[in-house]
Amino acid sequence: MDDEFANFLTHLECGLTSEYHQAGEVHGLSRAGKPLLARYDLSAIKANADRDAILARTNGFWKWRELLPVRETKNICALGEVDTPLIALNNLHKNGTVIVKDEGRLPTGSFKARGLALAVAMASELGLTHLAMPTNGNAGSALSAYASRIGLQTTVACPDDTPAINIEETALQGAKVYKANGLINACGAWIKAGADKGLWFDLSTLKEPYRIEGKKTMGLELAAQMGWALPDVIFYPTGGGTGLIGMWKAFAELIELGWLEKNDLPRMVAVQASGCAPIVRAYDAGKRFAEPWEDAHTFAAGIRVPAAVGDFLILDAVRASGGFAIAVDDEAIEHARQTVAQREGLLLCPEGAATYAAYMAARQNGQVSADERAVLFNCATGLKYPMPDAGEALDLANPA
Ligand SMILES: *Cc1c(COP(=O)(O)O)cnc(C)c1O
Repeated sequence: MDDEFANFLTHLECGLTSEYHQAGEVHGLSRAGKPLLARYDLSAIKANADRDAILARTNGFWKWRELLPVRETKNICALGEVDTPLIALNNLHKNGTVIVKDEGRLPTGSFKARGLALAVAMASELGLTHLAMPTNGNAGSALSAYASRIGLQTTVACPDDTPAINIEETALQGAKVYKANGLINACGAWIKAGADKGLWFDLSTLKEPYRIEGKKTMGLELAAQMGWALPDVIFYPTGGGTGLIGMWKAFAELIELGWLEKNDLPRMVAVQASGCAPIVRAYDAGKRFAEPWEDAHTFAAGIRVPAAVGDFLILDAVRASGGFAIAVDDEAIEHARQTVAQREGLLLCPEGAATYAAYMAARQNGQVSADERAVLFNCATGLKYPMPDAGEALDLANPA
């Protein structure tokens, strides 16, 4: 290693069977067809890394280098990452009890930057040259940005009703973009067929091991920002569930490192839209795996995911944490977006607004109390999404 950073990745493990898979090789899913989880020598990290020295670094999620899989610094693709702010909704709730982590401040305007930066860096490290994925919008944008930054080629397929801004930003950042006549799962099958032919590497959600490692940094960053402590409850807008799985993994690693002041884990809440709620349905039915959702619809496109390959990892984390899964309809999501924008001056994306709608529903039905500290994830900038028409016509001949 010709680098100032030691690397502690030891191997990968099947998320279902724990079967060993070797590091340093290209992997998709495990041999059992399930997501792979990266494993580290945590006792060596504990002996060699210092949590406060890490915190003193300024480069956003890349500061967690010892807990990430990338070996060589030349594979790090950076676009000015920042630690995303915690913003308490103090006009609407008792001081400091409801906090939004605003991920819209990241490069490409969404938390997809975390996962894709890591996936692209590892693809580069492992010698891949052409990456492809299906996307509902933000993933494609983050992929194209980071891949172009480090000189890799990208192809993306999205449903043809994906917001134009996502399609256009993704194309401008260098990807070949296809608008497809089907939902994300159908796009995923098309990308997979191309990968099987050797046209490109399939970077679909959880179908390679490293996006989780990027999303994991949300959990590390949150713990550090809260003084090496965790909130009582986390509301996460759940599509493929990468972030929820990643944060749960982060908390386990932090406990093993002894870096938390108290080992109290938050309850994890998976938030979905009632027009596409496969995880909520499986949670309610007591199942470990989720059936695909038919006729998925919601204007919160980021959580319009009818089937998730990491379903059991999401459901295991939700149950192990004592949390729950909850669905909210589009009307409640829109109402939540308007409430938070008007009362707090914070413009959420629809998926972020879904977490606030879910928080309010959970308060109403007693699943969460007013004294509990809740963190809601606003996963993207509100500016990328259609908004209600506004503005009144003015004839300047009339006085103010
Ligand atoms: C991708 C995405 C989600 C879902 O994230 P997962 O971690 O894959 O569940 C939610 N909201 C937005 C805006 C997204 O882009």
